[in-house]
Amino acid sequence: YGALYVVATPIGNLDDLSPRAAQVLGTVTLVAAEDTRHSARLLRHLGVVCPLLSLHEHNEASRVERIAEHLRSGRDVALVSDAGTPLISDPGFVLVRELRRAGHRIVPVPGPCALVTALSAAGLPTDRFLFNGFLPAKRGARRARLEALVERDETLVFYESPHRIRDTLEDIATVFGSRHLVLGRELTKAFETFLEGDADHLLATMNDDPDQARGEFVVMVAGAPPAKEESSSEIEASTLLSALLAE
Ligand code: SAM
Repeated sequence: YGALYVVATPIGNLDDLSPRAAQVLGTVTLVAAEDTRHSARLLRHLGVVCPLLSLHEHNEASRVERIAEHLRSGRDVALVSDAGTPLISDPGFVLVRELRRAGHRIVPVPGPCALVTALSAAGLPTDRFLFNGFLPAKRGARRARLEALVERDETLVFYESPHRIRDTLEDIATVFGSRHLVLGRELTKAFETFLEGDADHLLATMNDDPDQARGEFVVMVAGAPPAKEESSSEIEASTLLSALLAE
């Protein structure tokens, strides 16, 4: 049987494609891609000629059998998305789950991923973080999602597009107040920028310089500060108070 290679591709800078990714894309006999036109450009850049099969959220389930058949005939397949690591806020989960259930070999070929890239340079704690993908598009649902996260003490990570970055920052300002944020914008590209401050400060920066609201974003929010611990004298006082009240 062939193997399915899950191949990470650049999130901006083409030089970030690993030699192993290039080698795998050059040897498989089918590339399943989120957007075949987009990935055709990458293959051309690598000088690779290989059939592409579209695989996106609307047809993923129906592609499984076609790809399984290819693997059963002993040929290898690569899965790529438009940018970064497949399955990370990108198609591929259903394919990988079903092929794994059917006993196929799935081989990860690691590489760029926007959330890890952003965290690696943000200066926020990375020992524990909570990746939340994209927030809901509707304001009410978005606020509810943020409210559910406000007490989490891990670094919170979100993906955001230029269309919604301001709305999202407004909601973060409402829910998180002056909590510290880091925005990673256009990572690995010519206009890569890191902005930091609270959400109101970031919105003001974007109002002063609308270019700062363009491009792709990873939004990182500092985790909730540790709950203030009661000092031992406070604990003693409250124990004494309870005892006195009981009397
Ligand atoms: N699979 C990708 C990965 O591994 O990061 C993510 C795909 S998701 C559909 C696209 C989102 O990832 C963008 O809206 C943005 O939030 C983030 N992203 C991708 N490339 C980025 C970049 N160069 N700079 C900042 N964020 C980026």
